[in-house]
Amino acid sequence: MEIKLKRGQKLCKKCNSVNAARSKKCKNCSNDFVSKNIPVKNEITDWRNIEVGSYIKVIQGTGPYFLCSKESEDLKIGERICMGDTGVFKIVGKDQDGLKVNGASNKNAGFSYLYMGLPKKSKNTGIYWEPYRIKKVKFKGRR
Ligand SMILES: [Zn+2]
Repeated sequence: MEIKLKRGQKLCKKCNSVNAARSKKCKNCSNDFVSKNIPVKNEITDWRNIEVGSYIKVIQGTGPYFLCSKESEDLKIGERICMGDTGVFKIVGKDQDGLKVNGASNKNAGFSYLYMGLPKKSKNTGIYWEPYRIKKVKFKGRR
């Protein structure tokens, strides 16, 4: 069934409920409109088909995060604290839930793992595991 939207409304892509066009989160499922709906140039959506040996960049603000539980100068309670990797990586392998990568710039040297599976919450650590969003890059760093 198609839902007709009135002016000033938008549809949540996750749960199909109608929201105010300006809202930042879905009132029904808390889907975050802000970070997920902004299109990114060269974004890779089919990470399973990435060739090993190619270079990617993690889109800032994606990947695993905490929800802030203490009010501070910079952060409000409930705000996301990203704790994932950022920067350019070389793909060195894959498994069913993500990408094995090596840092390709001076800032992020070393082996890392980029989670690309379904969103989930870790009961032990309270970390929200959200898949990274990545984009293609041409490597210009060190060899
Ligand atoms: Zn929703």
